[in-house]
Amino acid sequence: MSDIQALDEQFISGTYKRFPLTITAGHGSIAIDETGKEYIDLGAGIAVTSFGIADPQWQAAVIEQLGKVQHMSNLYYTEPGAILAQQLCERTGLRKVFFANSGAEANECAIKVARKYAADKYGTDRHVVVTLKQSFHGRTLATLAATGQDSFHETFLPLTPGFISIEPTVAALGELKSNDIAAVLIELVQGEGGVNVLDPEFVTALADYCATNDVLLMVDEVQTGNGRTGTLFAFEQFGLRPDIVTTAKGLAGGLPLGVAMFGEKTKDVLGSGDHGSTFGGNPVACAGALNIFSRIDDDLLAGVREKGAYLRQALTKMPGVSQVSGLGLMIGFSTELPVADVVAQCMERGVLLLTAKDKVRLLPALNIPQEQLEKAVAVISEVLS
Ligand SMILES: *Cc1c(COP(=O)(O)O)cnc(C)c1O
Repeated sequence: MSDIQALDEQFISGTYKRFPLTITAGHGSIAIDETGKEYIDLGAGIAVTSFGIADPQWQAAVIEQLGKVQHMSNLYYTEPGAILAQQLCERTGLRKVFFANSGAEANECAIKVARKYAADKYGTDRHVVVTLKQSFHGRTLATLAATGQDSFHETFLPLTPGFISIEPTVAALGELKSNDIAAVLIELVQGEGGVNVLDPEFVTALADYCATNDVLLMVDEVQTGNGRTGTLFAFEQFGLRPDIVTTAKGLAGGLPLGVAMFGEKTKDVLGSGDHGSTFGGNPVACAGALNIFSRIDDDLLAGVREKGAYLRQALTKMPGVSQVSGLGLMIGFSTELPVADVVAQCMERGVLLLTAKDKVRLLPALNIPQEQLEKAVAVISEVLS
């Protein structure tokens, strides 16, 4: 164990089961450890470093803003957040945004807006948020309750009330009869839950249910957003017009930034004093996001779809691989070997992978060079053989 790893083990709360690997540098989709060994990074900091590690253009944008003003309280206006908000709205059709610092915080904001929307219109009895089994919405107390996986709950009871989770099926939807439902919160591709793409038929039925009952449709695009699935946001591929969309992870290319985006129905629900965040809309994070966002153009998105198709096809042919799932560069697959062994052996051979439940998960940078993908595919194939 290196000195850094020993310090970490001694002084950082043991919430993360880390691999024995310390990353000290990198460039693009190459991560470098403290011995100088290079790895092809197919995890991108869990879908965060959209254009890889230490991307020069992104760095320049961030450094430029650092030299102007690194933070200002939300008592005053700053430029990067205002322009980013405009771009987010213009490119999604949503109308207003609230800036937070993480995915969980973006979802907390969405949940507050759902409750206030319903309370203003129907009274406070209508406050339930429906989520899906196998979902993941964050680790704060409310988003934990929203997360439809008992394994996350067990030692943190009692859960925040007002959440129920259902199976993502048309039948389960048919059983939702109560009139205390304010909103539905879904991931269109469940990331942490095993890279499960929702059935489009279910999604359409859910959107109909929401529209008919004035229940808000909220899409958690914390992981699927910002080009990850081959469109700017995944909801475009499902033909949805959500009332609220949240995103975070890849938005600022590696700086902490979350956002809740509101449609026509919800754009004016929050008023002065209803919500806030000291760091929310931080100008440096927003400057990073402006750079990332402007580069997620049609060419890049076509590349994401092509590389995703290439990966899925290559994986499907590998020995012992089944259940290849996902959209764009958000991919999961099952193997006959235990996932932990696959990940450890690939790491040994210079390829970093992620897992999601019992699947191997790939979330490479959106601009990963094809040549690096091919090298990584060769390593995974070797390990699986
Ligand atoms: C990662 C994730 C979150 C939580 O984001 P944090 O930034 O870790 O709070 C919420 N929802 C989804 C779908 C995620 O993938």
